Amino acid sequence: MFKDTIVALSSSYGISAIGVIRISGNNVEDIIRNHLRKSFKPKKMYYNWFIDNEKKIDEITWTFHKGPKSYTGEDMLEIFCHGGPKIIEELITILKRYSRDAIEGEFSKRAVLNNKMDLIKAESINNMIHSETELSLDASRNQVTMGLSKDISKIEKDLLDLSTEIEVELDYPDDIAFESESDTLKNKVDSIIKAGKEILLNADNGIMAVHGIKTAIVGKPNSGKSTLLNALLRKDRAIVTDIPGTTRDTIEENLNIKGIYLRVIDTAGIRESEDKIEKIGIQKSIDSIKNSDLIIFIVDGSNPNKDDEKIFEKINKDYKNKELIIVLNKNDDKNFVQPFFLKNYHYISISAKEGNIKDLEEEIYKKFINKLTIKKPLLTNSRQKDILKETLNHLEKASNNIENGISKDFIMFDIRKALEKIYELNGKNYNEEMLNNLFSNFCVGK
Ligand code: GDP
Repeated sequence: MFKDTIVALSSSYGISAIGVIRISGNNVEDIIRNHLRKSFKPKKMYYNWFIDNEKKIDEITWTFHKGPKSYTGEDMLEIFCHGGPKIIEELITILKRYSRDAIEGEFSKRAVLNNKMDLIKAESINNMIHSETELSLDASRNQVTMGLSKDISKIEKDLLDLSTEIEVELDYPDDIAFESESDTLKNKVDSIIKAGKEILLNADNGIMAVHGIKTAIVGKPNSGKSTLLNALLRKDRAIVTDIPGTTRDTIEENLNIKGIYLRVIDTAGIRESEDKIEKIGIQKSIDSIKNSDLIIFIVDGSNPNKDDEKIFEKINKDYKNKELIIVLNKNDDKNFVQPFFLKNYHYISISAKEGNIKDLEEEIYKKFINKLTIKKPLLTNSRQKDILKETLNHLEKASNNIENGISKDFIMFDIRKALEKIYELNGKNYNEEMLNNLFSNFCVGK
């Protein structure tokens, strides 16, 4: 399918024992014949010098994969050379007589376009590479090993069978008794909806496991938000650096609390409050909640008042669906009291200033550990979740139309729409911009 040959260093730059270079495309066999061996077989590992114009460049091991039986589906060469930057540079310079630099994720993109794997699997593999906590690695790996692609393929197959069936009926309308037949048709659509809903059920947990729990620290000015954030950050933890598949429109800090990955969002507002307290109103604090999965509502225990109650009322009224942890801060202060409005609520008492936040960390862990360790293949990004939701919307419509005896043309219309969405989910139906965008989160050489 692709004419040009691409090359990339698949291991990291810098000095290492071994460097891995990958080449994919039509010129691979020429490269091998001109620089490595005249005769060779696929899937065999060879060990010899890479020669260029009679000059010995490096002694390497290498494997040839004949397309379509390769990662990309094209001819591929994988070279394991000595991992010195100069050696790698020399080799890649020679290889570029036959090829061009691959861009991010281009090998995987070719694999998807050549039907070697579907988009869901490509995304999961990328998530595995980017995982920085055990839980995110587990969730991404489950998606690969427990066969989410298989579950989606089953939905695809059922939809295809269904549309064939309806098409036959549209062609030969008189052959089939409509009444009894429409019952089974509805059952079939409903059972596909059920399968889809089961996958959707845990999608949010999958997304949180892989991409982090979006957390808003909310409270009136001076309640201790910034002190708490610093206390959480000060601990010796891995700071997660990059998040695949997300855009960052807010400034955030990333935390790893006993393996649970938290993304504290809108920290600009929190940080700002250190200097410009007068500018930060209650509204600003509330704004950060909208995008969050978890709200940490912090109350100044040395000075609780109406402002805390106002925020609390708002949270209870508008954000009931989010996880909430109530924190009563400044328990080291002599004026520390339990405010009346929290009388019937479970809260955690802390001193952010003295770093006494163990109970809070424990609470976060307890709240999420079960959600994030579900042993099922989960959808792990909002692209997948949104598309599956749209698929089910079309199917719900179809199901209703069948029930209301609406003409089969209309039912067919929604089944087709649902099928198109499934193709979008697994990458059989794509547009270039979407694919480029998605693969730009991948590493070069992957
Ligand atoms: P923010 O406006 O909510 O971000 O609040 P800050 O974190 O800036 O804290 C406001 C003031 O409360 C600062 O003077 C902090 O030192 C103080 N403070 C924060 N946490 C505690 C605490 O646990 N105990 C005591 N005694 N003071 C605290």
